[in-house]
Amino acid sequence: MKEAMFYQKRSNGDIDCLLCPHNCHISEGNLGFCKVRKNQNGKLYTLNYGKITGAAYDPIEKKPLYEFYPGEIIFSIGSYGCNFRCDFCQNYQLVYDHERYSDADIDRLWELAGANGSIGIAYTYNEPTIWYEYMYDISCGIRDRKLKNIMVTNGYINQEPLKKLLPLLDAMNIDLKAYSDAFYKKICSGTLEPVLKTIETAANCTHIEVTTLLIDGENDRDIEAIAKFLGDINSDIPLHISRYFPRFKRNTPVTDVNSLYRAEEIARKHLNKVYLGNI
Ligand code: SF4
Repeated sequence: MKEAMFYQKRSNGDIDCLLCPHNCHISEGNLGFCKVRKNQNGKLYTLNYGKITGAAYDPIEKKPLYEFYPGEIIFSIGSYGCNFRCDFCQNYQLVYDHERYSDADIDRLWELAGANGSIGIAYTYNEPTIWYEYMYDISCGIRDRKLKNIMVTNGYINQEPLKKLLPLLDAMNIDLKAYSDAFYKKICSGTLEPVLKTIETAANCTHIEVTTLLIDGENDRDIEAIAKFLGDINSDIPLHISRYFPRFKRNTPVTDVNSLYRAEEIARKHLNKVYLGNI
């Protein structure tokens, strides 16, 4: 356990967590929505600090990042927990199992990030925002070692922690799951606006690529708005349109390949770099 970086105390001992837009109000002994931040004796603690549920040397294209050191390998790590509840979660076994993890030594992670041909480290698999303090501590050492530092995220983070982290990041892949607040509320238990703000802020500071998992009948009509939003920031932002497969709590049919081709054609009206994934 480590004390969290972004929170405020109330006079009655309750806490407001300021890390992500849920801004959870947490009373003594309770957890925030992500279930990895706890109010203990009037202080907020992060419960998954130093706990790893997955580690692998991945091709950088798997993040996905296609326009950042293509062909290279990146040491990838993740923990448990998430600040969304997407019913199609691709990594739900890692995200929701809070018992199965290994304690990781930070010096060893720095070593591994520069070994086996890896160009650095990627925080991925679960949502790294809620692993913030550990990611931040690793990031400082990664920078000192001149390795690359990458965050793969749902973008649901408040501006203050984001701006503190951005100078340490070399690239981000940010999910833009839909262009509808209703989708974010119903399917992810989040909201759209903070994700858009993350993309705008990050695009000015680091290399970003964006991913949309296309689900027929849910967000397939949002592609034009997504591409226009990104194109208005910078038409060279790569957009990855990824094919949905039934997972976790969602068993609606796999996305029709023709929907992906249609989405690609629409997105290309606003963006120069559109990639299809999971086909
Ligand atoms: S990081 Fe967790 S505890 Fe903090 S506001 Fe977000 S969901 Fe709530």
